[in-house]
Amino acid sequence: MPQLTLFNTLSRNKEAFVPLTPGQVKMYTCGPTVYNYAHIGNLRSYIFPDLLKKLLLQLGYSVQHIINFTDVGHLTSDEDLGDDKVEKAAARLGKSAWEISRFYAEAFQQDLQALNIAFPTRFTYATEYIPQQIALLEQLEAKGLSYTLPDGVYYDTASFADYGQLARLDIEGLNEGARVSAEGKQHKTDFALWKFSPADQQRQMEWESPWGKGFPGWHLECTAMIFAELGQTIDIHTGGTDHIPVHHTNEIAQAEGATGQKFVNYWLHGEFLVLDQERRMGKSEGNFITLQTLLDQGFSARAYRYLALTAHYRHFLTFSEEALKSAQTAYFKLKRLIQKLDASAHQGAEAAEAAYEQMLAALCDDLNAPKALGQIWELVQNKDIGGQPKISVLQRIDQVLSLALFDSADLPENNAAEIPPVVQDLARQRWEAKQARDFARADQLREALAEAGYAVKDAKAGYELVALDSSM
Ligand code: AMP
Ligand code: ZN
Repeated sequence: MPQLTLFNTLSRNKEAFVPLTPGQVKMYTCGPTVYNYAHIGNLRSYIFPDLLKKLLLQLGYSVQHIINFTDVGHLTSDEDLGDDKVEKAAARLGKSAWEISRFYAEAFQQDLQALNIAFPTRFTYATEYIPQQIALLEQLEAKGLSYTLPDGVYYDTASFADYGQLARLDIEGLNEGARVSAEGKQHKTDFALWKFSPADQQRQMEWESPWGKGFPGWHLECTAMIFAELGQTIDIHTGGTDHIPVHHTNEIAQAEGATGQKFVNYWLHGEFLVLDQERRMGKSEGNFITLQTLLDQGFSARAYRYLALTAHYRHFLTFSEEALKSAQTAYFKLKRLIQKLDASAHQGAEAAEAAYEQMLAALCDDLNAPKALGQIWELVQNKDIGGQPKISVLQRIDQVLSLALFDSADLPENNAAEIPPVVQDLARQRWEAKQARDFARADQLREALAEAGYAVKDAKAGYELVALDSSM
Protein backbone atom coordinates (compact mmCIF):
# COMPACT_ATOMS: atom_id res chain seq x y z
CA MET A 1 0.00 0.00 0.00
CA PRO A 2 1.39 3.42 -0.86
CA GLN A 3 1.74 5.91 2.01
CA LEU A 4 -1.02 8.51 1.98
CA THR A 5 0.24 12.07 2.30
CA LEU A 6 -2.04 15.07 2.69
CA PHE A 7 -1.38 18.79 2.57
CA ASN A 8 -2.23 20.05 6.04
CA THR A 9 -3.24 23.70 6.21
CA LEU A 10 -2.02 23.75 9.83
CA SER A 11 1.61 23.17 8.83
CA ARG A 12 1.35 24.29 5.18
CA ASN A 13 3.14 21.04 4.35
CA LYS A 14 2.38 17.65 2.93
CA GLU A 15 2.37 15.20 5.82
CA ALA A 16 2.18 11.43 6.07
CA PHE A 17 -1.33 10.52 7.20
CA VAL A 18 -1.44 8.69 10.53
CA PRO A 19 -4.90 8.21 12.03
CA LEU A 20 -5.66 8.51 15.73
CA THR A 21 -6.75 4.89 15.83
CA PRO A 22 -5.11 2.44 13.41
CA GLY A 23 -7.45 1.56 10.57
CA GLN A 24 -10.11 4.14 11.49
CA VAL A 25 -10.68 7.67 10.28
CA LYS A 26 -12.94 10.34 11.74
CA MET A 27 -13.71 13.05 9.26
CA TYR A 28 -15.91 16.15 9.21
CA THR A 29 -16.93 18.31 6.27
CA CYS A 30 -18.59 21.67 6.78
CA GLY A 31 -21.94 21.44 5.06
CA PRO A 32 -23.94 24.01 3.16
CA THR A 33 -25.93 26.85 4.63
CA VAL A 34 -29.35 25.79 3.46
CA TYR A 35 -30.98 29.03 2.35
CA ASN A 36 -30.51 28.50 -1.37
CA TYR A 37 -29.40 25.85 -3.85
CA ALA A 38 -25.76 24.86 -3.73
CA HIS A 39 -23.84 26.20 -6.72
CA ILE A 40 -21.29 24.19 -8.64
CA GLY A 41 -18.50 25.91 -6.66
CA ASN A 42 -19.97 24.70 -3.38
CA LEU A 43 -20.29 21.24 -4.89
CA ARG A 44 -16.61 21.21 -5.78
CA SER A 45 -15.95 21.43 -2.04
CA TYR A 46 -17.76 18.10 -1.56
CA ILE A 47 -16.11 16.26 -4.45
CA PHE A 48 -12.61 16.29 -2.96
CA PRO A 49 -13.65 14.95 0.47
CA ASP A 50 -15.59 12.24 -1.38
CA LEU A 51 -12.47 11.33 -3.31
CA LEU A 52 -10.47 11.29 -0.07
CA LYS A 53 -13.03 9.14 1.71
CA LYS A 54 -13.17 6.59 -1.10
CA LEU A 55 -9.40 6.48 -1.28
CA LEU A 56 -9.24 5.82 2.47
CA LEU A 57 -11.78 3.01 2.04
CA GLN A 58 -9.75 1.58 -0.83
CA LEU A 59 -6.67 1.65 1.40
CA GLY A 60 -8.58 -0.43 3.94
CA TYR A 61 -9.60 2.20 6.50
CA SER A 62 -13.07 2.45 7.93
CA VAL A 63 -14.32 6.02 7.74
CA GLN A 64 -16.80 7.81 9.94
CA HIS A 65 -17.85 10.94 8.07
CA ILE A 66 -20.19 13.76 9.05
CA ILE A 67 -21.57 16.55 6.87
CA ASN A 68 -23.74 19.12 8.60
CA PHE A 69 -26.50 21.42 7.45
CA THR A 70 -26.16 24.96 8.73
CA ASP A 71 -29.86 25.65 9.17
CA VAL A 72 -29.55 28.50 11.66
CA GLY A 73 -27.06 31.11 12.81
CA HIS A 74 -25.13 31.91 9.60
CA LEU A 75 -25.43 35.67 9.37
CA THR A 76 -25.16 37.71 6.20
CA SER A 77 -21.97 39.29 7.50
CA ASP A 78 -18.90 37.59 8.96
CA GLU A 79 -18.82 40.45 11.48
CA ASP A 80 -21.70 38.93 13.51
CA LEU A 81 -24.07 41.51 12.13
CA GLY A 82 -26.88 41.34 9.64
CA ASP A 83 -29.68 38.86 9.22
CA ASP A 84 -29.76 35.12 9.60
CA LYS A 85 -29.48 33.82 6.04
CA VAL A 86 -32.15 31.13 6.47
CA GLU A 87 -34.68 33.42 8.18
CA LYS A 88 -34.08 36.08 5.54
CA ALA A 89 -34.73 33.62 2.68
CA ALA A 90 -37.83 32.38 4.48
CA ALA A 91 -39.23 35.91 4.74
CA ARG A 92 -38.47 36.58 1.08
CA LEU A 93 -40.11 33.36 -0.11
CA GLY A 94 -43.04 33.48 2.32
CA LYS A 95 -42.18 30.06 3.82
CA SER A 96 -41.08 29.02 7.28
CA ALA A 97 -37.38 28.83 8.08
CA TRP A 98 -37.85 25.11 8.76
CA GLU A 99 -39.44 24.52 5.35
CA ILE A 100 -36.71 26.47 3.60
CA SER A 101 -33.84 24.66 5.28
CA ARG A 102 -35.36 21.20 4.75
CA PHE A 103 -36.10 22.01 1.12
CA TYR A 104 -32.55 23.10 0.30
CA ALA A 105 -31.03 20.29 2.34
CA GLU A 106 -33.01 17.84 0.21
CA ALA A 107 -31.92 19.61 -3.00
CA PHE A 108 -28.29 19.39 -1.84
CA GLN A 109 -28.62 15.65 -1.28
CA GLN A 110 -29.97 15.25 -4.80
CA ASP A 111 -26.96 17.15 -6.16
CA LEU A 112 -24.62 14.86 -4.25
CA GLN A 113 -26.35 11.81 -5.69
CA ALA A 114 -26.14 13.14 -9.24
CA LEU A 115 -22.41 13.68 -8.75
CA ASN A 116 -21.84 10.19 -7.30
CA ILE A 117 -20.82 11.73 -3.99
CA ALA A 118 -21.43 9.14 -1.28
CA PHE A 119 -23.60 10.23 1.61
CA PRO A 120 -21.77 10.67 4.91
CA THR A 121 -22.31 8.34 7.83
CA ARG A 122 -24.71 11.02 9.02
CA PHE A 123 -26.01 14.41 7.94
CA THR A 124 -26.42 16.58 11.03
CA TYR A 125 -28.72 19.59 11.31
CA ALA A 126 -27.35 22.33 13.58
CA THR A 127 -30.83 22.89 15.05
CA GLU A 128 -30.81 19.31 16.37
CA TYR A 129 -27.73 19.94 18.54
CA ILE A 130 -28.80 23.02 20.52
CA PRO A 131 -28.33 21.43 24.00
CA GLN A 132 -24.80 20.36 23.02
CA GLN A 133 -24.02 23.88 21.79
CA ILE A 134 -25.27 25.38 25.05
CA ALA A 135 -23.17 22.89 27.03
CA LEU A 136 -20.08 23.82 25.02
CA LEU A 137 -20.71 27.51 25.64
CA GLU A 138 -21.01 26.78 29.37
CA GLN A 139 -17.59 25.12 29.25
CA LEU A 140 -16.12 28.16 27.53
CA GLU A 141 -17.72 30.46 30.05
CA ALA A 142 -16.32 28.41 32.94
CA LYS A 143 -12.85 28.85 31.41
CA GLY A 144 -13.27 32.61 31.24
CA LEU A 145 -13.27 32.64 27.44
CA SER A 146 -16.55 34.46 26.87
CA TYR A 147 -18.20 37.75 27.73
CA THR A 148 -21.74 38.99 27.35
CA LEU A 149 -22.89 42.06 25.45
CA PRO A 150 -26.42 43.39 24.96
CA ASP A 151 -26.80 41.48 21.67
CA GLY A 152 -25.11 38.19 22.52
CA VAL A 153 -22.36 36.17 24.12
CA TYR A 154 -18.93 36.56 22.52
CA TYR A 155 -15.68 34.61 22.48
CA ASP A 156 -12.77 36.54 23.92
CA THR A 157 -10.12 35.67 21.34
CA ALA A 158 -7.35 37.49 23.26
CA SER A 159 -7.68 34.91 26.03
CA PHE A 160 -6.90 31.98 23.74
CA ALA A 161 -3.16 32.00 23.20
CA ASP A 162 -3.10 30.16 19.87
CA TYR A 163 -5.87 32.15 18.24
CA GLY A 164 -5.45 32.52 14.49
CA GLN A 165 -2.63 29.99 14.03
CA LEU A 166 -4.40 28.05 11.31
CA ALA A 167 -4.80 31.15 9.17
CA ARG A 168 -1.47 32.67 10.27
CA LEU A 169 -3.51 35.69 11.26
CA ASP A 170 -1.62 38.83 12.14
CA ILE A 171 -3.66 39.46 15.27
CA GLU A 172 -1.87 42.61 16.33
CA GLY A 173 -2.16 44.08 12.87
CA LEU A 174 -5.82 43.13 12.70
CA ASN A 175 -6.69 44.71 16.02
CA GLU A 176 -4.53 47.78 15.64
CA GLY A 177 -6.78 50.73 14.94
CA ALA A 178 -9.48 48.37 13.70
CA ARG A 179 -12.98 49.58 13.98
CA VAL A 180 -14.64 46.88 16.03
CA SER A 181 -17.92 46.21 14.33
CA ALA A 182 -20.39 44.72 16.81
CA GLU A 183 -21.29 47.10 19.60
CA GLY A 184 -18.86 46.61 22.50
CA LYS A 185 -16.82 43.78 20.99
CA GLN A 186 -13.44 43.85 22.73
CA HIS A 187 -11.31 42.73 19.78
CA LYS A 188 -11.97 42.65 16.09
CA THR A 189 -11.51 38.88 16.00
CA ASP A 190 -14.00 38.18 18.83
CA PHE A 191 -17.04 36.36 17.53
CA ALA A 192 -20.58 35.53 18.58
CA LEU A 193 -21.20 32.24 20.34
CA TRP A 194 -24.85 32.96 21.06
CA LYS A 195 -26.96 35.81 19.70
CA PHE A 196 -30.03 37.10 21.52
CA SER A 197 -33.32 37.28 19.68
CA PRO A 198 -34.08 40.92 18.87
CA ALA A 199 -36.46 42.43 21.44
CA ASP A 200 -38.74 43.86 18.76
CA GLN A 201 -38.93 40.79 16.54
CA GLN A 202 -40.15 37.21 16.84
CA ARG A 203 -37.62 34.81 15.33
CA GLN A 204 -38.81 31.48 13.93
CA MET A 205 -35.77 29.65 15.20
CA GLU A 206 -34.89 30.53 18.78
CA TRP A 207 -34.20 28.70 22.02
CA GLU A 208 -34.01 29.41 25.72
CA SER A 209 -30.50 29.43 27.18
CA PRO A 210 -28.84 30.42 30.47
CA TRP A 211 -27.93 33.77 28.84
CA GLY A 212 -31.28 34.55 27.28
CA LYS A 213 -33.49 33.52 24.40
CA GLY A 214 -31.65 33.39 21.11
CA PHE A 215 -29.76 31.22 18.66
CA PRO A 216 -26.23 29.82 18.31
CA GLY A 217 -23.37 31.24 16.30
CA TRP A 218 -22.49 29.31 13.16
CA HIS A 219 -19.00 28.39 14.37
CA LEU A 220 -20.27 26.98 17.66
CA GLU A 221 -22.55 24.62 15.76
CA CYS A 222 -19.79 22.81 13.89
CA THR A 223 -17.60 22.34 16.96
CA ALA A 224 -20.51 21.01 19.02
CA MET A 225 -21.64 18.61 16.28
CA ILE A 226 -18.10 17.30 15.89
CA PHE A 227 -17.80 16.70 19.64
CA ALA A 228 -21.20 14.97 19.71
CA GLU A 229 -20.67 12.74 16.68
CA LEU A 230 -16.94 12.16 16.42
CA GLY A 231 -15.25 13.21 19.67
CA GLN A 232 -12.99 15.99 20.89
CA THR A 233 -10.09 15.16 18.60
CA ILE A 234 -10.66 14.05 15.02
CA ASP A 235 -8.45 13.07 12.11
CA ILE A 236 -9.60 15.19 9.18
CA HIS A 237 -11.67 18.34 8.73
CA THR A 238 -12.44 19.72 5.28
CA GLY A 239 -13.98 22.84 3.77
CA GLY A 240 -13.36 25.58 1.23
CA THR A 241 -10.40 27.96 1.59
CA ASP A 242 -12.75 30.81 2.55
CA HIS A 243 -13.28 29.05 5.88
CA ILE A 244 -9.63 29.28 6.97
CA PRO A 245 -9.50 32.80 8.44
CA VAL A 246 -12.82 32.91 10.27
CA HIS A 247 -14.96 29.80 10.50
CA HIS A 248 -12.28 27.18 11.04
CA THR A 249 -10.10 29.52 13.07
CA ASN A 250 -13.06 29.98 15.40
CA GLU A 251 -13.93 26.28 15.47
CA ILE A 252 -10.40 25.62 16.76
CA ALA A 253 -10.59 28.39 19.38
CA GLN A 254 -13.83 26.94 20.74
CA ALA A 255 -12.74 23.31 20.72
CA GLU A 256 -9.22 23.74 22.04
CA GLY A 257 -10.31 26.51 24.42
CA ALA A 258 -12.86 24.16 25.94
CA THR A 259 -10.85 20.92 26.09
CA GLY A 260 -7.20 21.96 26.07
CA GLN A 261 -6.69 19.17 23.51
CA LYS A 262 -5.76 19.23 19.84
CA PHE A 263 -8.99 19.45 17.84
CA VAL A 264 -8.11 18.32 14.31
CA ASN A 265 -4.96 16.60 13.10
CA TYR A 266 -5.32 17.32 9.36
CA TRP A 267 -7.07 20.38 7.98
CA LEU A 268 -7.77 20.11 4.24
CA HIS A 269 -9.03 23.06 2.22
CA GLY A 270 -10.32 23.02 -1.32
CA GLU A 271 -9.60 25.98 -3.57
CA PHE A 272 -12.41 27.91 -5.20
CA LEU A 273 -14.17 27.42 -8.46
CA VAL A 274 -14.00 30.76 -10.24
CA LEU A 275 -15.46 32.24 -13.39
CA ASP A 276 -12.28 34.13 -14.14
CA GLN A 277 -9.41 35.60 -12.17
CA GLU A 278 -11.52 38.19 -10.43
CA ARG A 279 -14.87 36.54 -10.09
CA ARG A 280 -15.49 33.89 -7.49
CA MET A 281 -18.73 32.07 -7.71
CA GLY A 282 -20.73 32.87 -4.61
CA LYS A 283 -24.25 32.31 -3.33
CA SER A 284 -24.55 35.95 -2.42
CA GLU A 285 -22.80 37.22 -5.55
CA GLY A 286 -25.76 36.48 -7.79
CA ASN A 287 -23.47 34.90 -10.40
CA PHE A 288 -23.97 31.35 -9.55
CA ILE A 289 -24.67 28.27 -11.63
CA THR A 290 -26.44 25.29 -10.14
CA LEU A 291 -26.00 21.69 -11.18
CA GLN A 292 -29.59 21.72 -12.42
CA THR A 293 -28.72 24.54 -14.84
CA LEU A 294 -26.00 22.35 -16.32
CA LEU A 295 -28.40 19.40 -16.57
CA ASP A 296 -30.97 21.64 -18.29
CA GLN A 297 -28.29 22.60 -20.81
CA GLY A 298 -27.90 18.91 -21.62
CA PHE A 299 -24.70 18.24 -19.69
CA SER A 300 -24.13 15.06 -17.73
CA ALA A 301 -23.59 15.66 -14.00
CA ARG A 302 -20.71 13.21 -14.13
CA ALA A 303 -19.00 15.32 -16.77
CA TYR A 304 -18.88 18.05 -14.13
CA ARG A 305 -17.31 15.59 -11.71
CA TYR A 306 -14.79 14.69 -14.44
CA LEU A 307 -14.04 18.40 -14.94
CA ALA A 308 -13.53 18.85 -11.20
CA LEU A 309 -11.09 15.92 -11.16
CA THR A 310 -9.02 17.42 -14.00
CA ALA A 311 -7.87 20.13 -11.57
CA HIS A 312 -6.02 19.50 -8.31
CA TYR A 313 -8.29 20.35 -5.39
CA ARG A 314 -5.84 22.94 -4.06
CA HIS A 315 -5.81 24.86 -7.36
CA PHE A 316 -8.41 27.25 -8.66
CA LEU A 317 -10.76 25.69 -11.18
CA THR A 318 -11.83 28.17 -13.81
CA PHE A 319 -15.28 27.24 -14.96
CA SER A 320 -16.70 28.00 -18.39
CA GLU A 321 -19.19 26.29 -20.62
CA GLU A 322 -16.33 25.61 -23.04
CA ALA A 323 -14.29 23.91 -20.33
CA LEU A 324 -17.23 21.76 -19.35
CA LYS A 325 -17.91 20.87 -23.00
CA SER A 326 -14.33 19.71 -23.47
CA ALA A 327 -14.48 17.74 -20.25
CA GLN A 328 -17.69 16.08 -21.34
CA THR A 329 -16.25 15.25 -24.75
CA ALA A 330 -13.21 13.65 -23.13
CA TYR A 331 -15.32 11.85 -20.55
CA PHE A 332 -17.67 10.37 -23.14
CA LYS A 333 -14.76 9.40 -25.36
CA LEU A 334 -13.11 7.58 -22.47
CA LYS A 335 -16.30 5.68 -21.72
CA ARG A 336 -16.71 4.67 -25.37
CA LEU A 337 -13.16 3.35 -25.42
CA ILE A 338 -13.91 1.37 -22.28
CA GLN A 339 -17.13 0.00 -23.77
CA LYS A 340 -15.16 -1.37 -26.70
CA LEU A 341 -12.57 -3.20 -24.59
CA ASP A 342 -12.27 -6.86 -25.50
CA ALA A 343 -12.75 -8.80 -22.27
CA SER A 344 -11.35 -11.97 -23.85
CA ALA A 345 -7.87 -10.42 -24.28
CA HIS A 346 -5.79 -11.27 -21.22
CA GLN A 347 -2.25 -10.13 -22.07
CA GLY A 348 -0.34 -7.56 -20.05
CA ALA A 349 -1.84 -8.30 -16.64
CA GLU A 350 1.36 -7.37 -14.84
CA ALA A 351 1.72 -4.05 -16.60
CA ALA A 352 -1.92 -3.30 -15.80
CA GLU A 353 -1.33 -3.99 -12.11
CA ALA A 354 1.70 -1.70 -12.18
CA ALA A 355 -0.50 1.00 -13.72
CA TYR A 356 -3.04 0.52 -10.94
CA GLU A 357 -0.34 0.95 -8.30
CA GLN A 358 0.75 4.17 -10.01
CA MET A 359 -2.80 5.50 -10.04
CA LEU A 360 -3.15 4.78 -6.33
CA ALA A 361 0.23 6.37 -5.69
CA ALA A 362 -0.88 9.53 -7.51
CA LEU A 363 -4.05 9.72 -5.43
CA CYS A 364 -2.10 9.02 -2.26
CA ASP A 365 0.09 11.99 -3.10
CA ASP A 366 -2.34 14.58 -1.74
CA LEU A 367 -5.15 13.45 -4.05
CA ASN A 368 -3.52 14.07 -7.39
CA ALA A 369 -6.60 13.21 -9.41
CA PRO A 370 -5.44 14.94 -12.63
CA LYS A 371 -2.40 12.66 -12.69
CA ALA A 372 -4.53 9.57 -12.06
CA LEU A 373 -6.83 10.58 -14.94
CA GLY A 374 -3.81 10.87 -17.25
CA GLN A 375 -2.72 7.40 -16.20
CA ILE A 376 -6.20 6.05 -16.94
CA TRP A 377 -6.03 7.39 -20.49
CA GLU A 378 -2.59 5.86 -20.95
CA LEU A 379 -3.79 2.49 -19.72
CA VAL A 380 -6.90 2.48 -21.88
CA GLN A 381 -4.87 3.32 -24.98
CA ASN A 382 -2.00 0.95 -24.24
CA LYS A 383 -1.89 -1.58 -27.11
CA ASP A 384 0.17 -4.11 -25.18
CA ILE A 385 -2.42 -4.64 -22.50
CA GLY A 386 -5.55 -6.67 -23.17
CA GLY A 387 -9.11 -5.62 -22.39
CA GLN A 388 -9.56 -7.92 -19.43
CA PRO A 389 -6.71 -6.60 -17.22
CA LYS A 390 -7.69 -3.07 -18.18
CA ILE A 391 -11.26 -3.66 -17.06
CA SER A 392 -10.08 -5.12 -13.78
CA VAL A 393 -7.94 -2.04 -13.02
CA LEU A 394 -10.56 0.46 -14.18
CA GLN A 395 -13.22 -1.11 -11.99
CA ARG A 396 -11.04 -0.76 -8.93
CA ILE A 397 -9.85 2.77 -9.59
CA ASP A 398 -13.42 3.85 -10.37
CA GLN A 399 -14.42 2.81 -6.87
CA VAL A 400 -12.30 5.77 -5.81
CA LEU A 401 -12.96 8.24 -8.63
CA SER A 402 -16.67 7.39 -8.97
CA LEU A 403 -16.85 8.46 -12.59
CA ALA A 404 -19.24 5.64 -13.51
CA LEU A 405 -16.79 4.60 -16.22
CA PHE A 406 -18.80 1.47 -17.03
CA ASP A 407 -22.19 3.13 -17.10
CA SER A 408 -22.98 4.35 -20.59
CA ALA A 409 -26.49 5.58 -19.82
CA ASP A 410 -25.47 9.23 -20.14
CA LEU A 411 -23.86 8.78 -23.58
CA PRO A 412 -26.00 10.69 -26.07
CA GLU A 413 -26.27 7.75 -28.47
CA ASN A 414 -27.88 5.70 -25.72
CA ASN A 415 -30.31 8.33 -24.79
CA ALA A 416 -32.20 9.92 -27.66
CA ALA A 417 -34.24 11.87 -25.15
CA GLU A 418 -31.05 13.68 -24.21
CA ILE A 419 -30.65 15.18 -27.66
CA PRO A 420 -31.87 18.78 -27.42
CA PRO A 421 -35.25 19.35 -29.12
CA VAL A 422 -33.80 22.05 -31.42
CA VAL A 423 -31.30 19.53 -32.74
CA GLN A 424 -33.99 16.92 -33.27
CA ASP A 425 -36.00 19.54 -35.13
CA LEU A 426 -33.10 20.45 -37.42
CA ALA A 427 -32.58 16.77 -38.19
CA ARG A 428 -36.24 16.30 -39.05
CA GLN A 429 -36.18 19.35 -41.37
CA ARG A 430 -33.07 18.02 -43.11
CA TRP A 431 -34.72 14.67 -43.66
CA GLU A 432 -37.78 16.35 -45.13
CA ALA A 433 -35.61 18.55 -47.40
CA LYS A 434 -33.80 15.46 -48.60
CA GLN A 435 -37.05 13.63 -49.30
CA ALA A 436 -38.11 16.67 -51.32
CA ARG A 437 -34.76 16.44 -53.16
CA ASP A 438 -33.79 19.95 -51.97
CA PHE A 439 -30.18 18.91 -51.50
CA ALA A 440 -28.81 22.43 -51.03
CA ARG A 441 -31.09 23.00 -48.06
CA ALA A 442 -30.39 19.52 -46.71
CA ASP A 443 -26.66 20.32 -46.81
CA GLN A 444 -27.20 23.63 -45.02
CA LEU A 445 -29.10 21.85 -42.31
CA ARG A 446 -26.40 19.21 -42.03
CA GLU A 447 -23.92 22.02 -41.38
CA ALA A 448 -26.18 23.58 -38.76
CA LEU A 449 -26.36 20.19 -37.05
CA ALA A 450 -22.58 19.88 -37.12
CA GLU A 451 -22.32 23.28 -35.46
CA ALA A 452 -24.65 22.03 -32.75
CA GLY A 453 -22.30 19.07 -32.26
CA TYR A 454 -24.21 16.35 -34.12
CA ALA A 455 -23.63 14.33 -37.23
CA VAL A 456 -26.53 12.80 -39.05
CA LYS A 457 -26.28 9.36 -40.63
CA ASP A 458 -28.83 8.25 -43.15
CA ALA A 459 -30.19 4.76 -42.94
CA LYS A 460 -32.69 3.01 -45.22
CA ALA A 461 -35.67 3.82 -43.06
CA GLY A 462 -34.71 7.19 -41.67
CA TYR A 463 -31.74 8.79 -40.02
CA GLU A 464 -29.71 8.58 -36.89
CA LEU A 465 -28.16 11.44 -34.89
CA VAL A 466 -24.69 10.89 -33.53
CA ALA A 467 -22.95 13.29 -31.16
CA LEU A 468 -19.78 14.44 -32.97
CA ASP A 469 -17.48 13.66 -30.06
CA SER A 470 -18.47 9.99 -30.47
CA SER A 471 -17.21 9.75 -34.05
CA MET A 472 -13.78 8.43 -33.23
P1 AMP B 1 -21.80 27.64 2.28
O1 AMP B 1 -23.07 26.98 1.88
O2 AMP B 1 -21.69 29.04 1.80
O3 AMP B 1 -21.57 27.52 3.77
O4 AMP B 1 -20.62 26.86 1.55
C1 AMP B 1 -20.53 25.48 1.45
C2 AMP B 1 -19.13 25.07 1.04
O5 AMP B 1 -18.79 25.57 -0.25
C3 AMP B 1 -18.03 25.60 1.97
O6 AMP B 1 -17.09 24.56 2.19
C4 AMP B 1 -17.40 26.73 1.18
O7 AMP B 1 -16.07 26.91 1.55
C5 AMP B 1 -17.52 26.20 -0.22
N1 AMP B 1 -17.51 27.20 -1.30
C6 AMP B 1 -18.18 28.38 -1.38
N2 AMP B 1 -17.96 28.99 -2.57
C7 AMP B 1 -17.13 28.18 -3.27
C8 AMP B 1 -16.52 28.24 -4.58
N3 AMP B 1 -16.77 29.25 -5.43
N4 AMP B 1 -15.72 27.22 -4.96
C9 AMP B 1 -15.48 26.17 -4.13
N5 AMP B 1 -16.02 26.06 -2.90
C10 AMP B 1 -16.84 27.04 -2.47
ZN1 ZN C 1 -18.18 24.29 9.82
